[in-house]
Formats: sequence, C-alpha cells, structure tokens
Amino acid sequence: AKTPSLSPQRKKQTVAVTYEDYSAIDPAGFDAVVVGAGFAGSVAARELAERGGKRVLLIEKKSHIGGNMYDELDEAGILVHRYGPHIFHTNDERAFKYVCRFTEWRDYQHEVRADWHGTYLPVPFNKNSMEIAFGPDEAARLTDKLVSVFGDERKVTITELRAQDDPDLAKVADFVYNNVFLYYTQKQWGLTPEEVDPSVVARVPVFLSRDNRYFQDAFQGLPKHGYTPLFENMLDHENIVVCLNTQAESVFDLRFESDAEDAPLSAIALAGKPFEGDIVFTGPLDELFLARFGRLPYRTLDFVYETYDVPEKLPVGTVNFTVSEDYTRITEFKHLTGQVAPNTTIMKEYSRAYADPETQIPYYAILSDENFALYRRYKDLTRNMANFHTLGRLAEYRYYNMDAIVHLALDLADKLIG
Ligand code: FAD
Ligand code: UDP
Repeated sequence: AKTPSLSPQRKKQTVAVTYEDYSAIDPAGFDAVVVGAGFAGSVAARELAERGGKRVLLIEKKSHIGGNMYDELDEAGILVHRYGPHIFHTNDERAFKYVCRFTEWRDYQHEVRADWHGTYLPVPFNKNSMEIAFGPDEAARLTDKLVSVFGDERKVTITELRAQDDPDLAKVADFVYNNVFLYYTQKQWGLTPEEVDPSVVARVPVFLSRDNRYFQDAFQGLPKHGYTPLFENMLDHENIVVCLNTQAESVFDLRFESDAEDAPLSAIALAGKPFEGDIVFTGPLDELFLARFGRLPYRTLDFVYETYDVPEKLPVGTVNFTVSEDYTRITEFKHLTGQVAPNTTIMKEYSRAYADPETQIPYYAILSDENFALYRRYKDLTRNMANFHTLGRLAEYRYYNMDAIVHLALDLADKLIG
C-alpha cells in the first residue's frame, strides 16, 4: 500500500519507497526499528537494510519523509523548503561521498547579506563589509590592524574580537556586535550573544577576507532535483518499510525496571512483545518519556511565505535582518535551487520559544549546562538498553549540521553492523 506523501506535482515522479500503514504490519517481522525519516533515521535505515541485511521498519510521525530537509513545489510552482532553508556544505569526504550515491548535486555557494538600515553588508562580516560600514580609508586602517593581530584570511569569533583591549579592535568589535549579532541573536534565541553558548555565535565568525560566501567548505550545494527525491532514493530499498503518520510514543510500549521516576527502561515492546532488535531513535528524548522530568527547552520557528510575480526579489539567497524587523531572515529559494520561473517565493522566519508539541516543531536545542543536565536525565533512562540508540539533532540535543548527522549515522551503522 502506498501512502501519498508528496505534493501533487512531485507525485509525478516514480516513488518506489514501500509505504505501509502501521496497523497493517507485524513489527515482529523486522530486525530493526528506526524512528524519524530525516538524515539521521534515513541513513541509518539504509545502512542497516543494505549493508546489514536487516529488515528495517522506519516510523515517522509526519506525513512525509525527509525530516527538516523536506521540500516540495508550492502552489505557485516554486520549489520551497518547508522547515527552513537547507544548504549542504561539508569538508567531510565520507559524508559527501555517501550522499552522492542518492542524487546528483547542483553546485551552489550560499551568500548572505545583513540588511543594515537598507544597506546590504556581507555576512560573515568581512573586508567588504568593513568598507561599507566604515568607508574605504578607515576600513583599510582597521583591516590592517586586524590582519596584523590575527593574520590575513583568518576567521575570528565575535567573542574573541570583543576580548581584545586595543581601541581599534574594540571599534570593529562594537560595530559587529551591535549591528550584526545583538538584535538577530535576541530574536533568534530570546537571549543576548553573551548568554547563548559561545559555539552558537562562533558559527558565524568575522572573516578577514574578501570572500563573500557564507561557508568555505570544499563541497557545497543542493540536490539537483531537491531533497525529497534524495530521501526517496535512500529509502527505496527492498528491506525498508516506511510507516508515515506514526508517532513512536503511540506504538512503543515502554517498560521500566520499577515504578520509580528515575527507573531505567528495561524493554520497548511492540505489539505486546519486547523488541529485541536495534532501535534507532532520532526524535526528542523528552517527548518519548512524556516529559516526566519537564520539557527540554527548544526554539521553534514560524515560516511565512510570500509569492511575487517577478523573477527575483533578493540579491542573494538569504538576507538577515540584524537591526530591524521581527523576523530573523528572508530566504529566496530560487537562488538555492537554481529554478527558473517568471515568479518567485520568499520565506520569512520568526523564532519563538517552543511550547506546544502538538502544534509546533522543536528546531533548535538551547545549549546550556542546565539544559544538557536535563537531557542527561532522560538519556540515563536508556542506560540498560543495549539495543536502543539515540542519533541526530533532536535525540542528542545538539546543534548539528546535515553533514555531521550523515557522518554520525554512518558511524552508528558501522558499530551496529560490525
Ligand atoms: P530531523 O531532520 O529533524 O528528522 C527527525 C525526524 O524524526 C523528523 O522527520 C520528525 O518528524 C521525526 N520524529 C521526531 N520525533 C518522532 C517520534 N516521536 N516519532 C516518530 N517520528 C518522530 N544543516 C545544514 O547542514 N545546512 C543548512 O543550511 C541547515 N539549515 C537549517 C535551517 C533550519 C531552520 C534548521 C532548523 C536546521 C538547519 N540545518 C541545516 C540542520 C539540519 O536541519 C539538521 O542537521 C538535520 O535536520 C538533522 O537531521 P535529523 O535526522 O537528526 O533530524
Ligand atoms: N548570528 C547573528 N547574526 C547573523 C547571523 C548569525 O547574530 O547575521 C548568530 C545568531 O545567534 C545565530 C548564530 O549566529 O543563531 C548562528 O547562525 P547560523 O546562520 O549558523 O544559524 P542557523 O542557520 O543554524 O539558524
């Protein structure tokens, strides 16, 4: 039985993934269960099925595969990403080679501008941004100073830059902090840049270069025909059955060693029987345990799409609003996908505190020692379950890019397959 999961336009493509209703299958017929059809779950499922020769049951609570990477044509015929703009970028050869098995790629070098009172500054803030912000002469003087301290073509985090005593460096640091980081970070996290984990703002360092690209990784691009077909190809395997609209919590019968709140899991039963095969779980761990210790904090996003009857709205793929507006950024998908059309769709992102698992999606773990300690309490509940494996951005409560997830999924598969 095939469950329609794609937009009407995409359904024209051959979908060879085996979709079943959960109620129609016998879980005892499977060697492994994977929860979640993003990169973590899909790579794990493919590896266990193909390399491990295991019959894999993949359950996904959404009505489609692809996780955050899911894309589809909107009503105007423009290919859009439904859960935030996704650019694959990596220096990891294994991860890249792996994803090349399932799609051809379109070379795309992402560029981002900050809308600074109506003027566009390249982000990461670089030598070109310096000239726009300070004028050519002052920019040359300040750039020389930065280069003499840090070296040319170097990346310097805003935290590192603000720690310098020199008045010229402080001038640059104050400018970048106030005009690139402060308001954007407050909108994105509800916190100041000092309050977020330093690794978060370190993702976008000042770059002493004329290179306007957002990433400098050796490989960057998007799947030539979109992400959804990549996932279809990955899950198109005779040993994989996908059950959509199926939430782990509703089909997992969790058994604990005692009734104590901290008692560890002893088994996960499916259809009345403890499941002995490997279970790879890629969803939020607090949700699996029905938030018994309280909810793990996340940020969620609202996406607002607008379609225009012009071929192009923005100069580059993404514009960040670092000093104005309530939304953090606007992305124009045609830059990313290379689609040619007389009209265009843009998307605004509004960040909010995640409060309701029924209506919202947890997109970003809020990294802090306190939140990670809460995560560890949930993780500890699985300590006696040798066949239960947490994997991915949600299940590990980390801020991972796609390539890291592919890498970790391959590592887990190595371990499980032996
Ligand atoms: P996900 O893609 O979230 O997949 C998890 C899946 O599990 C989902 O389909 C979910 O529905 C399902 N699920 C969860 N709980 C359950 C449950 N209880 N039962 C059944 N199913 C469940 N990375 C990049 O490399 N480049 C980018 O440009 C980039 N842009 C991003 C933009 C945004 C706005 C966000 C939020 C992230 C971005 N990322 C980017 C990161 C990227 O999305 C993640 O690295 C990737 O999604 C991680 O894959 P995953 O499989 O761990 O998680
Ligand atoms: N950031 C910022 N201004 C920008 C770009 C990034 O303040 O113009 C900060 C912000 O805190 C953001 C973090 O740097 O959350 C990481 O940015 P990145 O673009 O990597 O975020 P993502 O694409 O993962 O949402």
